[in-house]
Amino acid sequence: NGGSVPAETARHRLTVVSGPSGVGKSSVVGELRRLNPDIYFSVSVTTRRPRPGEVDGRHYHFVDRETFDAMVAKGELLEHAEFAGNCYGTPRAPVEAALRSGRPAVLEIELQGARQVRAAMPEARLVMLLPPSWADLVDRLTGRGTEQDEAVRARLAEAQREIAAAGEFDAQVVNADVRAAARQLLDFITGETIAFDDS
Ligand code: 5GP
Repeated sequence: NGGSVPAETARHRLTVVSGPSGVGKSSVVGELRRLNPDIYFSVSVTTRRPRPGEVDGRHYHFVDRETFDAMVAKGELLEHAEFAGNCYGTPRAPVEAALRSGRPAVLEIELQGARQVRAAMPEARLVMLLPPSWADLVDRLTGRGTEQDEAVRARLAEAQREIAAAGEFDAQVVNADVRAAARQLLDFITGETIAFDDS
């Protein structure tokens, strides 16, 4: 009916997915997108430089620091944080538009941002993706080859802090298998039980 969902109801449809860098958030969220095209996935702004293969406007809106600061000053970001030396934030308007039109919205953001969303919108639900083990995470982060040694160290330090905060989240999903993790996430987001075709 083109969007007459009351704000209070709509807020229940906001899900934050956090988890340490290297846990496979992008893969799981990509699979989730395939499973349910109705979900709105927020595209963040960041001052980080694009990695090979990343497309401006799709993976992120890549902006300079001045542009980022201006967005913060104008209140255009729902939450924002600095992570491993770069700034990241969630544009407010598209998320609110999705929720108003009755679509579930998913933010894939780090811990400080998740806490800001929780404070601003207590109805939002928070999920943390966890690695099967610490060794597994170290392997994935060092094996990715997209970051310099120092950046890997910064991300591992952040990862430790993120994992330690898992108890603050409404649910924890272990990413041992991308498809299984995405299905658990989907269940959590929609409350939907879907028939799986494993063929
Ligand atoms: P990456 O540089 O690996 O793409 O992202 C680094 C971290 O920033 C990840 O944990 C990712 O979830 C988080 N992140 C991405 N976008 C946002 C955002 O808009 N806000 C916050 N707070 N964190 C974000």
